[in-house]
Formats: sequence, C-alpha cells, structure tokens
Amino acid sequence: MAHADKTTGTGRLNQASGEDRVLLPIREIPTHWYNVLADLPFELAPPISPATGAPVTFDEMARIFPPQLIEQEMGHDRLVPIPEPVLDVLAMWRPTPMIRARRLEKALGTPARIYFKHEGVSPAGSHKPNTAVPQAYYNKISGIHRLTTETGAGQWGSALAFASRLFDLQCRVYMVRVSFDQKPYRRTFMRLYGAEVLASPSPLTASGRTILAEHPDSPGSLGIAISEAVEEAAGREDTHYSLGSVLNHVLLHQTVIGQEAQKQMALAGDYPDYVYGCHGGGSNFGGLALPFVGEALKGRPVTAVAVEPESCPTLTKGRMAYDFGDTAGLTPILRMYTLGHGFVPPAVHAGGLRYHGASPIVSALVEKGLMKAETVPQQAVFESAMLFARTEGIIPAPESGHAVAAVVKKALELKEEARTATILFSLSGHGLLDLSAYEAFIDGKINNGGCPGEAIEEALSHLPAVTT
Ligand SMILES: *Cc1c(COP(=O)(O)O)cnc(C)c1O
Repeated sequence: MAHADKTTGTGRLNQASGEDRVLLPIREIPTHWYNVLADLPFELAPPISPATGAPVTFDEMARIFPPQLIEQEMGHDRLVPIPEPVLDVLAMWRPTPMIRARRLEKALGTPARIYFKHEGVSPAGSHKPNTAVPQAYYNKISGIHRLTTETGAGQWGSALAFASRLFDLQCRVYMVRVSFDQKPYRRTFMRLYGAEVLASPSPLTASGRTILAEHPDSPGSLGIAISEAVEEAAGREDTHYSLGSVLNHVLLHQTVIGQEAQKQMALAGDYPDYVYGCHGGGSNFGGLALPFVGEALKGRPVTAVAVEPESCPTLTKGRMAYDFGDTAGLTPILRMYTLGHGFVPPAVHAGGLRYHGASPIVSALVEKGLMKAETVPQQAVFESAMLFARTEGIIPAPESGHAVAAVVKKALELKEEARTATILFSLSGHGLLDLSAYEAFIDGKINNGGCPGEAIEEALSHLPAVTT
C-alpha cells in the first residue's frame, strides 16, 4: 500500500543505497497522453473567433495549425496515442528522473518529504520539448515547411528549434525584446539548431510596427511576440504557428510528466499530498498535476498549487473572462484568467512567467476550486533557488525557482505545525543559461518589484466583448 510508510517519514526510498533517484526504464515512457477533459464534471467554454464572434471552427484553426493538433485541442478522448516517431525522440531523455530532495529537507529541518520531477534533463533544458516534438512532427506530416513562434526567456524557442531540426522544418522565433537583450546565449542556442531569431516587437510585422510606433523602447511581451508569429503564419501557405503553452493540446502533451511521476511515486512507496509547479501559461504545472487531478476526481485527494510571480499574478489577481491570447487581438478569444491582453509585465528575470493569460484548463480548475494558485516575490524565488542549488546541486531556472520557493514555504509551515506531508514539484528546467539573473541576485541587485496594480486595472478595462 503506497501510503504505508507515511508515519515513519522515510517512505520506502533508502538513502544509503542511493535510491533517492527514482528512475524508470525507457519502456515505461507513457504510450498515451492523458486528456483531463474526459474526466471533468463540466465543459470548458469554447474559444471564440475574433472574426465571427462565434465559437472558432476547425477551418479557422487550420490556417495556423495541422489537423491532428486541432483534433487534440477540441478532443475529449481520455487517452491519445503518442505516435511512434514522437516516442522515438522523447526516448532521447525520457523518462526523466524523480528525485527525493533529502538534502534540501535536511537544510530546512522539515518533516515533509519533498520530491521533484527533473525536466531540466531534456536537450533544451526544460519540459518544453515534450510538446515541441509532437508539434513539429504533426506539422511535418501535414506538408508544412516552416514554423513561426514566440519565445519569452528563450526556452520555448530552444525547444522548437531543436524539434524543427529533427523533423527538417525551418523555424523563425520572435523573442521578447527584454530576454533577447538579457540572454544572448539563448539566441545562440536557437541559432545553433538552425533557427532564425528576431527581437520582438520587430519591424517585420504590422503588429510589431504598431507597438514600435508608440513605444520604440518596448521591452516586448509574450502577447506581442505571439501576435507577430501568428500574423506571419496566417499570411503564408507553407508556414504554421506553434505555441509553447496555454492551449489544451500543449497541456495534453505535457502529461507524460505526471504519468511518469505516478509510476515513480508508486515505486517510492509514497503519494503526493501536494503538487506544485510554476505557472506561466500552465503547461509544466498542468503536465505534472493533471494526471493527479484525474485521480483526485476518482477519490484520491491532492492539493495542486500553481505558483506565479507577484509581478504577473494572472491566476491570483486576474479576472476569469474571455480575452485574446495576444496583444494585437489576432488569436481566438479564450475564457481564462487574464490580466488583460494589453498588459506588459515588468521585466522580471523569470521571462517564461511573463504572460497575461493562463491555460483555459488550469483557469477552469482554479475557478472550480479543484486547483489552487499563489504568488511568490522575486527575492524569495532566488533565495530558495540558491538554497536548492547549494543542497541538491541543480541550478533551477528562475521560473522553476517559483515552485521551489512555494515548496520551501510549505515545508517550513509543516515544520512549524509539526506535521508531515509528501510534496511533489516540477523542476521545469535548469538555469544554466540564466546565470546573469543569479549574478544579479548574488550582487544584491534583485528587488521584488511588487504587483503592478494600476497597469493591470488599465489592461482589464480593455477586454473584448463576448456574448455567449
Ligand atoms: C516556459 C517555461 C515555464 C513556463 O511555462 P508553463 O507553460 O507555465 O510551464 C516554466 N519553466 C520553464 C523552465 C520554462 O521554460
């Protein structure tokens, strides 16, 4: 029985024999993606077309996505088979390890058992290739030659550049200006795989030119970069657009994380009371948490917590409403927590968490109380991430540092209450290309910034009118 060892506080893992790393053989890579929509007791509100004001049709989506991804976006099948050529590539680094963070536990003096799923072992250094690979594959077999996309911190761009290379597709990446300037090695990373990288807003698209005319120094945002990439893809027959988070099919692809973690937890003789993940658009958090939420719907409870930056508090301070996924208003209108599509978040170091919206699936689950959300300030993120690096050895991406900070807080609370619990979190990526952010922290140059309340108010006053 998986819960058997809860009282001893040790689980079945044996530190002396090096069993803190729970590894699965390659044959244990999930053969299917898990679609939580099959198990939810409610329907998601449909995406709305900005052109017609009615639910988006298959044909409208087909301008920028291949048919298989549209079917997955709209589908309700519980299990979706992963194509053989995709499994073949995933096997380059999957299954990823699940690791008991025993040295972190000890440093905190917490009775909690802390495990993390290490997605930083992929070629791109994050969970993002889990969806980049199937997206590139489906576009390739649909006769597409080029992909455009946006990237924040550069992680998604790196993942899609890698996947595009493997499936022989050209790839153009619109990279948010602030990250383009802060992370020069990310640019090299993408170009090394053969992708073309442009700073966004760029003069190449009408969306970019509009922003530049008003704000020549715009730091950019994911919303702006998405507008540019979508605009280009919609205008070219040979080109499709690829999104690294938010959409249902992206969360679907990421459920390999949670399904592996379920098997690894069983091997560890444990089961999570809490599942944490940082939240930018919802894909690493959803990918880890949704298979556990599926179990919770069948009666095995879990508290799943999405962690966001104080400076971009979509789930905690946003409004559940229909809004555009991008700044220019080119994408379908999604019902989600949003800070307003015109919101440009402050230039914090976790570029991958600077998005005004959120996954409609995670949004609906938070709205219904089936998932939770909280924010952490930037200084606590780097403090906790550094403690993690100094105990567990792995340098977390600043994005992942948000999950670490929330887990540290929870572990200290449990210590205070003299309670034990099992915590599982997503270490969504490593921070080896984010060392300039760590340098700023070590030099005392990281501040909290706080929540830009007025800018959020302003952006929320411009939501599109949707009457459904
Ligand atoms: C992109 C990214 C995120 C944020 O995106 P989600 O879709 O919310 O997962 C988090 N961590 C890392 C390492 C990333 O690259």
